[in-house]
Amino acid sequence: MHSISGFYYVEAAGFVYECKAKGTFRKDRNAPLVGDRVLFEPDGHKGFIIKIEPRKNYLVRPPIANLDKLFIVASADRPKPNLYVIDKLTAFAVYHKIEPVIVFSKTDLADISSFADAYIRSGFSVLSCSAVNGEGMDRLSDAIANGINAFTGNSGVGKSSILNYLLPELSLETNEISDKLGRGKHTTRSVKLYRYRNGCIADTPGFSSIDFEENGERIMKEDLAACFPEFESYTSSCRFFPSCSHTVDKGCAVVKAVQDGFINPQRHQSYCRMYEEVKGFKHWN
Ligand code: GDP
Ligand code: ZN
Repeated sequence: MHSISGFYYVEAAGFVYECKAKGTFRKDRNAPLVGDRVLFEPDGHKGFIIKIEPRKNYLVRPPIANLDKLFIVASADRPKPNLYVIDKLTAFAVYHKIEPVIVFSKTDLADISSFADAYIRSGFSVLSCSAVNGEGMDRLSDAIANGINAFTGNSGVGKSSILNYLLPELSLETNEISDKLGRGKHTTRSVKLYRYRNGCIADTPGFSSIDFEENGERIMKEDLAACFPEFESYTSSCRFFPSCSHTVDKGCAVVKAVQDGFINPQRHQSYCRMYEEVKGFKHWN
């Protein structure tokens, strides 16, 4: 399902119905979202949405429900991968029960093996591709063949180029990189789902940066370690479990695992930086 100014386009058995939602959804502050599975009463080519099925997850920005995989795109070069952005986005995906897949793009420009290896060792799915020579596109295509998938990553990393490669009929505008800034311009459109093989791809413009403050549900400092899957086997053996921040020395099993080479130090640095960002967040009062 996707929506345009008050209408929701619901696909059922190969047809698309232009639906309105019952007013009660708006009162419940629970309007249908792109990606929702809904029950509706058809009336010719139109319809009325009467029920939204329970969601696996949903995001406020961009507004989308039931995402299965989040493809986090970072380019091998121009711009160079921003590891903190990757680490924030993987944490965000894990928190929302969305499977993160890291995609290193523009492999025609530079070697990505050192970056890729670090993330593979941290337990993530990692793919690589080039929209210029087509390298890696078959594996990427198979990874998005099912479920609801979205692409994210900084502007200029090649998201539109990948989507255009896989779905030529999309013909998204690609941004020429401004050499001065080393990153692309920013464009904003509304979220839409496109059929791809047995799944869907969400076109989620403006979803490059994740703002934890803006995204409705905040990650609290107590929940952050669980968003770093490779910490899992260490967190419970901390001396101060369950209240350890896992950021400083003194008997912390996570910090020890970093020192002993079992956890990537750069990943732990990202964790500490995120911890500083979220530690002031208060539970809803
Ligand atoms: P987006 O902002 O993430 O959607 O990035 P775009 O798809 O607009 O690409 C930004 C710039 O990178 C454009 O100038 C593209 O031509 C270029 N680009 C995209 N993919 C590749 C690639 O695989 N290799 C190379 N060399 N350049 C690419
Ligand atoms: Zn600890």
